[in-house]
Amino acid sequence: MTDLRDRTLPLSGIQHFAFCRRQWALIHLEGQWEENLRTAEGELLHSRAHEDGLRERRGNVLTVRGLSVFSQRLGLSGKCDVVEFHADSAGVPLQGEPGLWQPFPVEYKRGAPKNGDADQLQLCAQAMCLEEMLCCQVPEGALYYGETRRREPVPFTPELRAQVETMCREMHDYARRGHTPRVKHRKGCAACSLKEVCLPAMTRSLSAATYLHRHIYSEEGL
Ligand code: SF4
Repeated sequence: MTDLRDRTLPLSGIQHFAFCRRQWALIHLEGQWEENLRTAEGELLHSRAHEDGLRERRGNVLTVRGLSVFSQRLGLSGKCDVVEFHADSAGVPLQGEPGLWQPFPVEYKRGAPKNGDADQLQLCAQAMCLEEMLCCQVPEGALYYGETRRREPVPFTPELRAQVETMCREMHDYARRGHTPRVKHRKGCAACSLKEVCLPAMTRSLSAATYLHRHIYSEEGL
């Protein structure tokens, strides 16, 4: 993959992009953001998980919260909720910690595991950032879901990695062109935090001219 260092995009956008290209563009290119219950709950869970920069050692596991990560190759930067470093003779050295450590990213999510692989892709992107920063392999991580209070293991397969690379290329292409994809109505629209901004039902059924006529000209008696 070519180096995308001309612009760094937020790593958190991977989940939006995987869910809906248009949602990603509305948030990350147009700066739209609708606070709703789901996003508010998600923020609360994340703020607990982040407690930025905190390190905690328990036995052979060093836990770091809110670790900043980046990848020049993917053109991404962001934060990991939690990265566990497991003491491992095949791991990498860490500043200020004796021994060698194997990184294991853990992402906290509101709700239960959902359909689709948006969460897995975001976690995989974190792992790819860690690999580039620490010059190591990160074969696996986990997603923790607030509703089930369970960890789901996520192996970073070649297919998942290839999907992350393809998505990053596409995201950077949209960002360069300032392109917001058109509405494509989908099942997820009902739960989308941007549905009021995006107006899928209206734009699906009406042309702009018809909408203006109905909502503006008709009010003015035209
Ligand atoms: S309402 Fe639907 S089309 Fe619009 S941004 Fe949300 S998911 Fe995408």
